[in-house]
Amino acid sequence: MDKLAVLGGAPAVPRDQRSVAWPIITEEDRKAVLAVIDSGELVSNSDTPTAVDDLEARFAERVGVARCVGLSNGTTALQIALAALGVGPGDEVIVPALSFIASGLAPLHQMAVPVFADIDPVTFTLDPDDVARKITGRTAAILPVHLHGMPADMAPLRALADRHGLVIVEDAAQAHGASYHGTQVGALGDAAAFSLQVTKNLPTCGEGGLLTTNDEALAGKIRMIRQFGEVIEAGKPRDYVSYTLGWNSKLNPIQAAFAASQLGRFDDYEARRQANITAFLDRLRPLPGIQVPAAREGCTHAWHILRLRFDPAAMGLPGVPPAALRGALRRVLRAEGVPLSQYQLMTLPRQKVFQERTGFGNGYPWAALDGETPPDAGHPVAEAVIEDSLTLQKRHLNPDTGDLLQRYADAFEKVWSNRDMLTTLARAER
Ligand SMILES: *Cc1c(COP(=O)(O)O)cnc(C)c1O
Repeated sequence: MDKLAVLGGAPAVPRDQRSVAWPIITEEDRKAVLAVIDSGELVSNSDTPTAVDDLEARFAERVGVARCVGLSNGTTALQIALAALGVGPGDEVIVPALSFIASGLAPLHQMAVPVFADIDPVTFTLDPDDVARKITGRTAAILPVHLHGMPADMAPLRALADRHGLVIVEDAAQAHGASYHGTQVGALGDAAAFSLQVTKNLPTCGEGGLLTTNDEALAGKIRMIRQFGEVIEAGKPRDYVSYTLGWNSKLNPIQAAFAASQLGRFDDYEARRQANITAFLDRLRPLPGIQVPAAREGCTHAWHILRLRFDPAAMGLPGVPPAALRGALRRVLRAEGVPLSQYQLMTLPRQKVFQERTGFGNGYPWAALDGETPPDAGHPVAEAVIEDSLTLQKRHLNPDTGDLLQRYADAFEKVWSNRDMLTTLARAER
């Protein structure tokens, strides 16, 4: 039995194999960026097509939707989707209790109140039964997050939305290329928000966002909202008339060109990632006490983040608290060269902004609900997941990490064959 690195043994992942780039930046990407700079078309509100129009057309085709609109980032895409669909003050938006903070902030930016529903313990996406319990007369929208690349269970959510007259805005920021029963994410809701932030599966050289929809009129409204409420038409000079409340939330052509260049390689990267990650997870699955992520029946997973849950009793370590075990595993596996981290230290409803209700002015938007606060029986599943899981991020997105992931699997197997030591190591945690 090999000695654990944390006790002075040789680490399972050799040091010179650990550093991995994401995103991968090629000569092609550099040329695409320079071509925009040389073209002089540096903003998207032009009367001639820019790199933003090109990316929008290509991404709409990739997702299989009528329209795509480039926006400054994924958070803005979520907010503008809600704005264009008419969600505003006095409305409630149902959001999963486990997500990146932006999913909870976007309703607030529209002066709507986010109401948190619990998640499924295996897929980490919205639990439709808890969504049903959270619907009130003020609910206007459901905001399912395809968390970590796993599509949310859209069929029951769509049924609920139809029954109660709600709109659905997908948060697809982590799920480019994932599909649900043959339909790409981004084509499942009334509108969907994607992020092009540099760490995402389809990255740009900085910040960016894309909004997709099959509703052409909605897309037109979104184009106005991103440009001060103006209408910009090809071949016509700008008239500076604002027809609706708008912001300045456009995607930059340089960033669009970089993302379009990355999109050209996306399907190749995606296929290789699927092979690497499946082979890695297949080696973890037999180890007792690890819950390995899996795609729901009929779905493809985009594997943006790999979240592993650990069960002390199933590992043969009864009596070790999950958080202590997680802390010990994090320390021991990091020493072996596996860069595990905690992604989200708390559920969304525990974030200070929602606890202290520091929104606009004197407690708005909550104050607009006439003192009535939405029902909330807690989020036990999301809390448990935060308590007993660790994540792998970013490196596995690089399609050349098949071997590295196999070394990670070596490290897990090594730690599992030494797992009796974890009881002692877990006692030293906190
Ligand atoms: C990254 C992310 C966002 C926000 O996207 P930005 O482009 O960073 O604004 C929203 N939701 C989820 C789930 C994300 O991971």
